[in-house]
Amino acid sequence: MEAGIVGLPNVGKSTLFNALTQAGALAANYPFATIEPNVGVVPVPDPRLDLIQSFITSQKVIPASVRLVDVAGLVKGASAGEGLGNKFLSHIRNVDAICHVVRCFQGEVTHVDGDVNPVRDIETIQTELLLSDLQMVESASQKSAKLARGGDKEAKAKLALLEQVGAVLNEEQPVRSLQIEDKEQRKLLRGFAFLTAKPVLYVANVDDTDPAGEGPLVQAVRDFAAKDGADVVPVCAQLESELAELDEEDRAEMLADVGLEEPALAALSRAAYRTLGLQSFYTAGPKEVRAWTVPVGATAPEAAGQIHSDIQRGFIRCETYSVSDLVELKSEKAIREAGRLRVEGKEYVMRDGDVCHFLHNG
Ligand code: GDP
Repeated sequence: MEAGIVGLPNVGKSTLFNALTQAGALAANYPFATIEPNVGVVPVPDPRLDLIQSFITSQKVIPASVRLVDVAGLVKGASAGEGLGNKFLSHIRNVDAICHVVRCFQGEVTHVDGDVNPVRDIETIQTELLLSDLQMVESASQKSAKLARGGDKEAKAKLALLEQVGAVLNEEQPVRSLQIEDKEQRKLLRGFAFLTAKPVLYVANVDDTDPAGEGPLVQAVRDFAAKDGADVVPVCAQLESELAELDEEDRAEMLADVGLEEPALAALSRAAYRTLGLQSFYTAGPKEVRAWTVPVGATAPEAAGQIHSDIQRGFIRCETYSVSDLVELKSEKAIREAGRLRVEGKEYVMRDGDVCHFLHNG
């Protein structure tokens, strides 16, 4: 799963990216935290992993992770080729979700549009994405119209869909606001990878004097996001980058000083999971206790496929219990004896917090 960090220049994107990947680099299980200068792997903080580890001793604990891409270079006019322009836009085409950083901190840092106004900033970026999608609607429509005239059925369906998408965009609404019930049409729509079809999560970069984001600027972002059903997470990027450099003890002290319970990384990754419709399952044994990620609604073989495609292909069944069973009964043996170890087949839809042993041939 991959999330792209976007936002206007000077809003704190790189500060946030560095803080998140630095925190990742410190989690010993992620020696490869920075893959490329602008791509990082960020571990997902997960208290359930610690719970499992307290009952099943293992050599290693490996958290789930999200790939983060710092997509620098979006400026007003990008869709018309300003700045990195279309190169920038193509970077976002590949991500699963957009993490939109908005400046809510005051201070000396120059703002590209003069003053701090987060809703105007969001609209500036959104306009570029809408314009880019509109261009795509136009070029795809021309292509489909040609094919449709030749009797191509799929092209006809695409053309009808593109008309709906165009109407939404012309109302200055993102493609994700378009409700499409039909499964085939939804698949066609996904194929276009419209930028404004991607789920968005807003990160309000706040002052360290207001780390919980209680001020009016963050409230304005919340009001804007609510129209779109999007989450807003207040983060003080500068503070996070300082926290990421501390050892655990000093970090706890600094958090207490500013009145925060946890680094924003934790809240941010929870929100990213919600935005992406993801949930966690676990594997646990003496070698490692590990968290894995699947979309809500994934079946047991699909979950197995996260571990290895061979396990998905040769899937026979899985033995499953929930983390809460383990907390209550304290060992897998006791879970089995109490008849709480479930045997699930190919059709099983994974539940959040399942601990699984997959049986497979291959
Ligand atoms: P980017 O262009 O969006 O990647 O922005 P940067 O991360 O380079 O940040 C731009 C400037 O804003 C830098 O000088 C940062 O130190 C500063 N900055 C970033 N986050 C914060 C913050 O939370 N509070 C304050 N006061 N300054 C910040």
